[in-house]
Amino acid sequence: MNNMNKRIYLDNSATTKLDDDVKAAMIQALNVFGNPSSLHREGRMANNLICESRKNVAKLINAQENEVFFTSGGTESNNTVFNIILKSFKPDGDRNEIIVSSIEHPSVLEPAGQLARQGFKVHYLPVNKEGIVKIDELKSAISHRTALVSIMAANNEIGSLQNIAEITKIAHANEALMHTDAVQAIGKIPFDIKQLDVDYASISAHKIGGAKGVGALFVKNNAIYSPLMLGGHQCGGRRAGTQNLIGIIGFGQAAKKAATTPKIYLDKIKPIRDRLGNLISANIPNIVINSRGENILPNILNVSFAGAEGESILLKLDYAGIAVSTGSACASGDTKPSHILMAIKADPELAHGSIRFSFGLENTSQDVDTVMKYLPEIIKDLREISTISSEVNNGR
Ligand code: PLP
Repeated sequence: MNNMNKRIYLDNSATTKLDDDVKAAMIQALNVFGNPSSLHREGRMANNLICESRKNVAKLINAQENEVFFTSGGTESNNTVFNIILKSFKPDGDRNEIIVSSIEHPSVLEPAGQLARQGFKVHYLPVNKEGIVKIDELKSAISHRTALVSIMAANNEIGSLQNIAEITKIAHANEALMHTDAVQAIGKIPFDIKQLDVDYASISAHKIGGAKGVGALFVKNNAIYSPLMLGGHQCGGRRAGTQNLIGIIGFGQAAKKAATTPKIYLDKIKPIRDRLGNLISANIPNIVINSRGENILPNILNVSFAGAEGESILLKLDYAGIAVSTGSACASGDTKPSHILMAIKADPELAHGSIRFSFGLENTSQDVDTVMKYLPEIIKDLREISTISSEVNNGR
């Protein structure tokens, strides 16, 4: 077993460790107790810190400060966008269609499903084997009836990157609004909201060294808006509720750092990720790399291992001191293969044996050596068990 004092964390797409400077800023912020909406000095102090954080988040994505407001995370930001559509368009109106990709996060797919139940027509765009949206399919689905196009910038399971600037041009040519879920893209690849020209973008702090439960929504100046949270005048009425001061202060610090990290991911992390992919391909037979092609995040490697269950691999790696996640959505007894792997036409059996290794800034090449010390043996053992159990089952 790996020395348990040195855990190897390869699940950074699920969440990142709190960055040390973020933690220090948050600890300091514990002394600031004023309500940022209060007019007295304590309130103004808190509000100034929120403004500072907003400035840093806006700068990170090259937005105006008044185009960014804080939410409880990516999920709330995504839901807010679909709520805008629900409140601003009618199912029996002229613009009653929505376009999403088939590999969106559930926090986009489920609000889209809710709009479908209300009578809106939802188009689910297919992707190619690399997880890239087929632009021809977008062009044939879009029309003057489209209210919103929502396509994620980077996928959370296989890391595929979409050409958001091109997709936005097509959306705007049809006078449709454009949203991108940028939760996985921020801090990993350069992300300039002005170049992309989207109307809405969702961000989350805990994917870039910030705390969980805080995020932001970018709303382009003059884009239509309707609040999801009602009951207060905070953020100019855009999001009611006393703000998560400490989380937001940490987010501001994380945003400052995230401006510099795309280069580190490209120069340092991508080669480490590629090395693991090459070593797995060379040393373990019957595998499929699901994160493929040129247009992928620098930190995600998704691999299917034939004849081994993803959850068993995860638990054995965990026991060896290595944290990864499964590619299939097995949470709460749901054994359906991941909708993302199904969208790239992965074999459903193989999809059950998929693992996502997601690297963060702290990972090193030695971590890859440690993974390779345990992984081939784990897969071999699990395959033997699965052969024995299929023989037993066949003999029944
Ligand atoms: N969108 C994507 C692509 C994600 O990967 C996640 C989280 O995993 C979310 C949205 C939700 O973000 P949050 O955890 O901040 O609600």
